[in-house]
Amino acid sequence: MEESTVKIIQNAAYLLASILFIRGLKGLTHPRTAVRGNLIGAVAMLIAIVATLWGGGIMSWTWIFAGLIVGTAAGAYLALTVEMTGMPQMVGLFNGFGGAASFLVAGGELIMSINRSQVAEDATAVATQTAGHGGLQFMIAVALSGIIGSVTLFGSIVAAGKLKELTFTFRGKKYWTSKSMLLPGRHFINGALFVLAIVLCVLIVKHPDTVAWYAILVVVAGALGILITIPIGGADMPVVIALLNSYSGLAACATGFVINNNVLIIAGSLVGASGLILTKIMCKAMNRSLGNVMFARLGPTADGPSADEIYEGKIKATSADEVAMLFDGAQRVVIVPGYGMAVSQAQHAVRDLATLLESRGINVDFAIHPVAGRMPGHMNVLLAEADIPYDKLREMDDINPELAQVDVALVLGANDVVNPVARTDPSSPIAGMPIIDVDKCRTVVVIKRSLSPGFAGIPNPLFAMDHTLMFFSDGKKAFVELVAAVKES
Ligand code: NDP
Repeated sequence: MEESTVKIIQNAAYLLASILFIRGLKGLTHPRTAVRGNLIGAVAMLIAIVATLWGGGIMSWTWIFAGLIVGTAAGAYLALTVEMTGMPQMVGLFNGFGGAASFLVAGGELIMSINRSQVAEDATAVATQTAGHGGLQFMIAVALSGIIGSVTLFGSIVAAGKLKELTFTFRGKKYWTSKSMLLPGRHFINGALFVLAIVLCVLIVKHPDTVAWYAILVVVAGALGILITIPIGGADMPVVIALLNSYSGLAACATGFVINNNVLIIAGSLVGASGLILTKIMCKAMNRSLGNVMFARLGPTADGPSADEIYEGKIKATSADEVAMLFDGAQRVVIVPGYGMAVSQAQHAVRDLATLLESRGINVDFAIHPVAGRMPGHMNVLLAEADIPYDKLREMDDINPELAQVDVALVLGANDVVNPVARTDPSSPIAGMPIIDVDKCRTVVVIKRSLSPGFAGIPNPLFAMDHTLMFFSDGKKAFVELVAAVKES
């Protein structure tokens, strides 16, 4: 086939892939169309990859199919074996893989272009062929891929560890990675690493025939990614995850300029822009500015009261039969799901109870906090999986003004997102975060296994309030028991 025909087919495929990416993103904006949107995005990616490898004459069909089989097998294995509770870490790591792919491709392209320009007799002609080796645009794009990609990879690895709530012991003291860890002199060290990274970018651009500066940049940016992410913890994590997602798109976009690939530039820009929008939404949900999160300015400033001080003698345990009796006189029930619903996979049992209560004339709504769970939209996805009508899911700002009229609030495995300390204690790690005001409901039933804290690691005075009952149980087991108890009552 003639080279010009190949180019036309390739660009047509890129155009189709770009349109499908945009349609896929549109689909992701609503739970009902999200699965289809995801599929459309995957098909678009397949078209883009095949068109790139085939059209560039880089690989034979054998290699393309071999790569597709290996990639599909790895992806299918991860998707089928990952625990539902491991999803957030996996999604976090995928951001990192995007960053790694970007800086590896950019580095590979730099090495190849250096080699080609060295062996070529006519260096100038080859330079034009190799996407502008040594040219300003090429070298700036290489440097940007290196810095953003490496920050994304190493920041994402730390973030995944935090989402997994890994712990470690240092000098006999146990530390939770999920909490904010404020290292001494961190602003100075991060500032110095940032300046060094910029200097290295300049050196890369000025010395297009040296790969060493690029390698050093990747190491320095990696250290920066780790050190920026370590101090961020607790309730600020959703913002960081969204930001790293955006970085992975920007790194891919820069790499698109390195290899002169239009669809990579478009796809990277879409991920970068949508990640930035998500970051803004998460900042708003947490009532934080991006600066506060990135510089960990709102880390805990003082130890609040201990769990014993808050809970001692004030906890009232309850059972399924007692809660069923509460429903007898209730007209409005609100269910507030949190991370514990994901852990216990209680969504189907939750739907059964909601349907049962509604069949008895009780109005049931779901109050959804934007950062409940461990991923943006975590609760929406689980409840949609259980076919709970979307109009039953009420956003926090929408339902909060109505909570004083609610007879029973069922808090299922949610903790930080209903912790009134966010309103009352300015030194708390969740200070200022808007919460679902369940404490205003007439009776609150909290379903969880123990008095353990949530992700932010702080006690919750809601559990000790006069109108709160604690139903200590696994979430799914509790809802199955509640369904049985309501049927019997
Ligand atoms: P929390 O992490 O505050 O609390 C979850 C609660 O679930 C725990 O207290 C735990 O208590 C309970 N739980 C765990 N397993 C079970 C089970 N099998 N059955 C019943 N309960 C269970 O969750 P929230 O959803 O309230 O808050 C989310 C937190 O995560 C926020 O701090 C948010 O900032 C953070 N975060 C959110 C992200 C996002 O994008 N949404 C990303 C990263 C962090 P017990 O062990 O006693 O059962």
